Amino acid sequence: MRFVIIGGGPAGVQAATTAARLGAEVVLIERDVVGGAAHLWDCIPSKAMIATGDRLDEIAEFRGMGLTVGAASIDLDVIRARVTGITELLESHNLRLLESQGVEVVRGSGRLVDQHTVAATTAEGGRSFLADAVMVSTGSRPRIPEWAEPDGDRVLTTRDAYPPPSLPDHLVVVGSGVTGVEFVHMFVNLGARVTLIVSRQQVLPSKDPEVAAVLEENFLARGVQLYKGARAIDLDRTDEGVVVRCDDGRVATGSHALLAIGSLPNVEGVGLAEAGVHMDGSWVAELDHHMRTNVPHIYVAGDVSGKLPLSSVASMQGRKIAEHVMGLHKVDHRHLDYEKAASAIFTDPEIADVGLAEADAFAEGRKVRVTKVPFASTARALINGDSRGFVKIVSDPATGVILGGSIVGRQASELISVIAVAVTNGLRTSDLAESILVHPALAEALSDAAE
Ligand SMILES: Cc1cc2nc3c(=O)[nH]c(=O)nc-3n(C[C@H](O)[C@H](O)[C@H](O)COP(=O)(O)OP(=O)(O)OC[C@H]3O[C@@H](n4cnc5c(N)ncnc54)[C@H](O)[C@@H]3O)c2cc1C
Repeated sequence: MRFVIIGGGPAGVQAATTAARLGAEVVLIERDVVGGAAHLWDCIPSKAMIATGDRLDEIAEFRGMGLTVGAASIDLDVIRARVTGITELLESHNLRLLESQGVEVVRGSGRLVDQHTVAATTAEGGRSFLADAVMVSTGSRPRIPEWAEPDGDRVLTTRDAYPPPSLPDHLVVVGSGVTGVEFVHMFVNLGARVTLIVSRQQVLPSKDPEVAAVLEENFLARGVQLYKGARAIDLDRTDEGVVVRCDDGRVATGSHALLAIGSLPNVEGVGLAEAGVHMDGSWVAELDHHMRTNVPHIYVAGDVSGKLPLSSVASMQGRKIAEHVMGLHKVDHRHLDYEKAASAIFTDPEIADVGLAEADAFAEGRKVRVTKVPFASTARALINGDSRGFVKIVSDPATGVILGGSIVGRQASELISVIAVAVTNGLRTSDLAESILVHPALAEALSDAAE
């Protein structure tokens, strides 16, 4: 089996290692960083910058712990070097892993020439590969509205922000989805005033209103200005900074603006249509649940697939595709279930959820049992000096099977994994309640919520 993969992000790397382990001859073509946009611009740099801001914010809490420290200052060059260093370390880890599995990594741009041929344009010239199966995992890039012109200086996309050339004094963030709110959190902690343009009446419009309300409260307490129900329609750069105009007549001025209004798939020049894959504009028109296009041996994975745009989902798609390519679906096989993907928002407090949300169960008229335990009831939260937030578990009242959950609070992004394992494996509340967990630990709120 010769398996050629175009795009070495989380989807590509996972598919390559899984298929190679199962015995395929694998070629992975990557034009930039092995690890993908996830490592170069998205998950990793954003969380590294958020970690720096969080440390700065924590210094304010030291006094309550009986500590006195001097004033902190920010060194943009050190932050930049740290972010780059992490990306480089992760890339070298990926390259070692791929090499150990015998994957051929080709540095260059890949393109389908026909249904079974992939061409790579490299620094040395061109190469051509015959493939029994092909996976396209070329990722996505930030969507730029026609009314804005990012300049990498004052008008930023997420890719210009790790860190930007100068720290914003007043940042106007356009877009209040997951990416937008994470950048608000990051820059507030780094000392910026922030105005957030929220097109709906709630930040994080797709999330549980109770969860979104906690974040809004936190933003307001930290001085973030929320322009709710306002759509940005124009952005000008001035001598002093930026001016963002909204459709309801409001105007936000700031030193910098950051656009966080979604992404577009990288399909240009990849040759999908040329290979006979049916397209619907920029997206692949037909994908079955194995992520196969209408050309059965051409698969699409990750952000370019238009499914759930998460690194974790991209990796799982890559793994499932590799298993399918190698015929594993013919034996006992668990299909990818997007409903069971855990996700987190790295704000203060952190927000994480998985599976069925209480609000969705309510909207569907579905009978569920919802139990909620505040972290304030755990000793560990008091020890940490941060007792904000809660754990909520949604279960089937008849069987006790855990259907979903949300967590708001410190380390929510870690703790949600416990509920994710329960949801994926059909565990019951009693399974969780009867597990002996560490004491004192925040996870005790999970077993309490499962009682
Ligand atoms: C600011 C931000 C923060 C995020 N944070 C998180 C997070 O914390 N957790 C999370 O799970 N998700 C997060 N995401 C989403 C996550 O980054 C994406 O879902 C993930 O990167 C998708 O992986 P992928 O494999 O599809 O592609 P990518 O990571 O986009 O990788 C695609 C690769 O393909 C390469 N490529 C493209 N075209 C070609 C070609 N023709 N030839 C060769 N190579 C090519 C690119 O160079 C790139 O390296 C974040 C997104 C953003 C924007």
